[in-house]
Amino acid sequence: MNIILLGPPGAGKGTQARLMEDRHGMKQLSTGDMLRAAVAAGTETGRRAKTIMDRGELVPDDVVVGIISDRLGQPDVRGGFILDGFPRNTAQAEALDRMLAGKGLKLDAVIEMKVDDEALVGRITGRYTCAKCGKGYHDRFEIPKAAGVCDVCGGTQFNRRADDNEKTVRDRLFVYNAQTAPLVQYYSGRGVLRTIDGMADIAEVTRQIEDVLKGPQRPI
Ligand code: ADP
Ligand code: ADP
Ligand code: ZN
Repeated sequence: MNIILLGPPGAGKGTQARLMEDRHGMKQLSTGDMLRAAVAAGTETGRRAKTIMDRGELVPDDVVVGIISDRLGQPDVRGGFILDGFPRNTAQAEALDRMLAGKGLKLDAVIEMKVDDEALVGRITGRYTCAKCGKGYHDRFEIPKAAGVCDVCGGTQFNRRADDNEKTVRDRLFVYNAQTAPLVQYYSGRGVLRTIDGMADIAEVTRQIEDVLKGPQRPI
């Protein structure tokens, strides 16, 4: 199955996408992760993206559309993909439609994860990830079983994102509401939107996503 996880920063897209990869063998395609990898590698794209990401604004459409187009051309996505953080505006959604048509791929569902703004700020300011495997954690909501040791890989180094501070989070939420939220209309008009309660705990959100995946689909 090919799906989009649509939701504001901190909604739980990355957390749920990773769980779906494990359960369904689908590939997570996170433009944020790909851009951060480009920043870390010091590529030309990474250098251009960094200042924009630090401000919480959107990287130019041609950059992210190019990244996703390359990725959708690779054979490992044929078993299904989860788009996480893309598309983020109507121009990107239209570009995605063209890419999918050109590659003979369909979209089975767009899952909108709804979470209150104040909860999002708390989630993002407490977020950190394992430096070795990328597993996400939270200071209060998702704590490693052994303090300071990653549950998945045993790593002991963790990262916090430069843009996960309260000021930038509020700017990112503003950008989300202005530019990304209109995609709810875009996809509901085409009959593929499914909305779930992202305020629930992680396991309950997973159950809601499973229900969507099991339910009837009319791919576009
Ligand atoms: P996104 O990818 O949508 O920006 P993440 O999946 O990184 O969001 O989640 C943001 C933070 O909130 C992480 O620290 C994660 O551990 C935590 N988190 C994710 N889902 C939930 C949930 N349902 N309830 C509480 N905390 C959550
Ligand atoms: P979150 O889900 O926490 O908002 P992401 O990791 O998806 O964070 O994105 C981090 C930053 O990367 C964004 O604030 C933006 O600058 C950039 N970015 C990621 N995906 C896109 C995209 N599809 N279009 C433009 N910019 C993007
Ligand atoms: Zn790890």
